[in-house]
Amino acid sequence: MTHPFDLSGKVAVVTGANTGIGQGIAVALAQAGADVALVGRSSADETAELVRGAGRRAALVKADLSTIAPVQDVVDQVIADLGGLDILVNNAGIIRRNDAVDFTEEDWDAVIDTNLKSVFFLCQAAGRHMIARGRGKIINIASMLSFQGGIRVPSYTASKSGVAGLTKLLANEWAAKGINVNAIAPGYIATNNTAALQADETRNRQILERIPASRWGSPSDLGGAAVFLASSASDYVQGHVLAVDGGWLAR
Ligand code: NDP
Repeated sequence: MTHPFDLSGKVAVVTGANTGIGQGIAVALAQAGADVALVGRSSADETAELVRGAGRRAALVKADLSTIAPVQDVVDQVIADLGGLDILVNNAGIIRRNDAVDFTEEDWDAVIDTNLKSVFFLCQAAGRHMIARGRGKIINIASMLSFQGGIRVPSYTASKSGVAGLTKLLANEWAAKGINVNAIAPGYIATNNTAALQADETRNRQILERIPASRWGSPSDLGGAAVFLASSASDYVQGHVLAVDGGWLAR
């Protein structure tokens, strides 16, 4: 009998998979049996080696997701390279920091375009393919700031709240078509994105005191949640935003 978390024969797409959380999720999906397409603007050769090391196929798909121009080509290329598209992980994201009173239109648009607009249109392009086949799994990477306000990151908070809302909307529209749409809300995860916070002794101590688990998460901490939401184990889970945060939101 097949294990409910087994992803053998599935094709996954992970955006922003050259580093950080995207790399952790790509490797976990490969270890569970999926072939993985790595989508991004920088070289994801290292992640591809890790996927191949897990015995799975890796495909590299170049795309800059600061605009929606490449999204249909991404879906078409993944299907051409790996023969299908069963799992989409929208992970690529950026953050811009400034006080709300000084926040610029450029910083607003850059974050919303990458973190929200491209996420929706990639869901749409992949969703059309999945709906035609009657099955598929979409996992959007949200944030603690899908639930909380944060400070000095207005476009990021708006984008991640938007991702949580979109996840629920798409689940509503597509659940009856065999598509699961869910999200993961990471807590403080040690990546390039958070390197400055980790390096700031005071901020680092404050963060660690506030996290019930008393440690930063690592990209591999997201792997189990991603495999669950990508697998048949989650077939009746819809529109959920799963916090993987060491207890941050429970506090
Ligand atoms: P990193 O900065 O380490 O990685 C971000 C990834 O997104 C990189 O692969 C980057 O590629 C890619 N990316 C950014 N812009 C684009 C673009 N225009 N086109 C294609 N790819 C792009 O971040 P994390 O791993 O920390 O974050 C991953 C996701 O998790 C993000 O959505 C983030 O908001 C979310 N998150 C992270 C948390 C954390 O504590 N780390 C907490 C909550 C959410 P490139 O190298 O080319 O820039």
